[in-house]
Amino acid sequence: MGMKAQELVVRAGLDLNALLKELNSAYCDEWLAYYQYWIGAKVAEGKMANLIAGELQEHAGEELAHAEKLAQRIIELGGTPAISPDLWLKESVCGYLAPKDPNALTLLKQNIQGERCAIEVYHKLLAMVAGKDPITEHLVREILEDELEHEQDLEDLQNGCEPKDKKSCAK
Ligand code: FE
Ligand code: FE
Ligand code: MG
Repeated sequence: MGMKAQELVVRAGLDLNALLKELNSAYCDEWLAYYQYWIGAKVAEGKMANLIAGELQEHAGEELAHAEKLAQRIIELGGTPAISPDLWLKESVCGYLAPKDPNALTLLKQNIQGERCAIEVYHKLLAMVAGKDPITEHLVREILEDELEHEQDLEDLQNGCEPKDKKSCAK
């Protein structure tokens, strides 16, 4: 817990409890996103399954890194990151879409929906802290950049392209 960290946030006119609530719900979203990607990578089958599973696996790791960064900031601000998986669904904004249909293209659709929700969450959070809490602002901006890239990567795969390699796009 950082006394000065909290003082700066309060002095900037932010409601510390409201900020911690938003950070914690984003933290819960990240664990669900992590698991949705992780299990999706395991069960994916059908057309482009290998390529898609590889990207899902990579994104799983990146969502976990987001959870890590959020937990660190929550603790710094005197909060407690959700201490039980029970809370993940309860406090999540974006929820969880179980890969009931393992078709890789269906998984892509579900994960794109998740990314679009995450983008809205971080966009809103950024507006809340912008110009007031530079540390959280930086953190949220970094995560938002990743989520935008995630959406783009999944859309590329949906269009038959390998992420970041437009030449592979099957047109
Ligand atoms: Fe994330
Ligand atoms: Fe993401
Ligand atoms: Mg990617």
